[in-house]
Amino acid sequence: MNLTSAHPRIVIVGASLAGLQAAQTMRRSGFEGEIVMVGAESHYPYDRPPLSKQFLAGAWDEAKLTLRGAVDPAEHDLTWMLGRAATSLDLANREVAIGDERVAYDGLVIATGATPRTLPGVDLEGVHVLRTLDDARSLRSDLAQGEVVQPRRVCVIGAGFIGAEVAATAQQLGHQVTMIEAAEAPLARVLDLETGMAIAELHRSNGVDVRLEVGVEEIHGEDGRVDRVVLGDGTAIATDVVVIGIGVVPSTDWLADSGLELGNGIVCDSTCLAAPRVVVAGDVARWPNQRYGNKMMRVEQWDNALEQGAYVGKRLLACLAQTDPDQTDSDQTDPDQTDSDLEPYTPVPWFWSDQYDRKIQLAGVPSNTAELVHGTLEERRFVQIYSDEDGAFTGAVAWNRPRHAIKARQLLLRGGTLDEAREELA
Ligand code: FAD
Ligand code: NAP
Repeated sequence: MNLTSAHPRIVIVGASLAGLQAAQTMRRSGFEGEIVMVGAESHYPYDRPPLSKQFLAGAWDEAKLTLRGAVDPAEHDLTWMLGRAATSLDLANREVAIGDERVAYDGLVIATGATPRTLPGVDLEGVHVLRTLDDARSLRSDLAQGEVVQPRRVCVIGAGFIGAEVAATAQQLGHQVTMIEAAEAPLARVLDLETGMAIAELHRSNGVDVRLEVGVEEIHGEDGRVDRVVLGDGTAIATDVVVIGIGVVPSTDWLADSGLELGNGIVCDSTCLAAPRVVVAGDVARWPNQRYGNKMMRVEQWDNALEQGAYVGKRLLACLAQTDPDQTDSDQTDPDQTDSDLEPYTPVPWFWSDQYDRKIQLAGVPSNTAELVHGTLEERRFVQIYSDEDGAFTGAVAWNRPRHAIKARQLLLRGGTLDEAREELA
């Protein structure tokens, strides 16, 4: 490989799903230089999805949070800098600053993910956000109070993924749960309104008090501990525990003076390159997805972090192997003169969410035109397909129909039509 130094060093900022996947991919591709993993958390990479599900429920312990394929931290010969947050980036000198320390790189992967939004009152005891293992430990101990679960009053603010999953887990643990959402329906932003209303009904039928179209005025405390949540309509809800799940912001503060283009994430080209020798993956990346007419996308889902992490690992190696690695894709005189590693990143988005005994899966991109093609919403086992204004098939949501979800994804990957979706997903 035509690298810039005899012992090239790749620095990966963000030691989680996307970052680790990039490192593993580079090793599997034969990269023998140094790989430095810089992670703000003190933990080796772990899996976040169980934090709101099995781990919070007490069904899984921490040993089960290990990321697939990352069993041994010594594997792949990585240099770990954990509990260390990168504080700035010097593109001209190719250095990442970690406080006073400077780490030089030949190639850089940025995979710093996202950080929860908060509300005033977040500092009160009993008020939680849920993003990290430390957050989950704290919430779990507040819900469990030791070995025995004591029924508590739990207010979940926001009925997005965190809100809906934590509400389901807490309700199943025997707590008395209220879920508050400013929008018309839970998860309305990532699904359609009708499916969102079905999620509201799912929670209500399991005993959750779901309050829609109302915001939170105040998280109130007494002696430093939360005691009630006051809603926009004046209602006060007495509570022991609050979980704030009102979305995340991409973790880009440390890049403010870097010269990288920031705007709802780090803006990259269609191959996830943000600057010469700098690639971006996971929740923090925003790139034009050619599969969707170059629509700028930032995807906050597990599957994308995995796939994009692997992609940028290859992308960075291809970039370093170029005659002039300082070229970006758009600098190339003939964009067709790229090897297969430089194909644009064009995934079909995909997620799942587990709530009670339902597995909700989405393939592709939702729209407000949802058509039921299988099952019924009442029995909570169905498939709806989405289309755009031109009648093109854009996505499908499936409840407890995993095979249909996989089929929908395959259909989207091969550019299937709405009629094909109607037929194959019926
Ligand atoms: P992250 O996993 O957020 O990791 C980024 C890492 O970078 C963090 O460890 C952070 O501390 C570190 N970092 C940030 N700034 C710096 C810095 N300056 N220097 C060094 N390190 C830094 N998705 C699904 O599809 N299905 C699910 O069921 C699902 N469940 C979820 C449940 C929970 C509770 C959460 C929180 C998320 C869930 N997700 C789920 C989303 C999924 O986990 C994320 O999309 C995925 O973790 C993103 O991976 P990432 O590597 O891009 O970022
Ligand atoms: P989210 O899915 O973006 O949902 C946040 C919800 O809170 C939205 O419905 C939002 O409505 C609402 N909201 C915003 N401000 C509010 C306010 N002041 N009062 C009441 N509601 C408010 O974010 P999240 O649930 O916090 O999840 C955080 C991250 O974890 C996301 O990246 C998510 O993808 C990830 N995650 C994913 C899964 C999964 O895929 N299964 C599970 C857990 C977590 P508006 O949209 O109208 O602002």
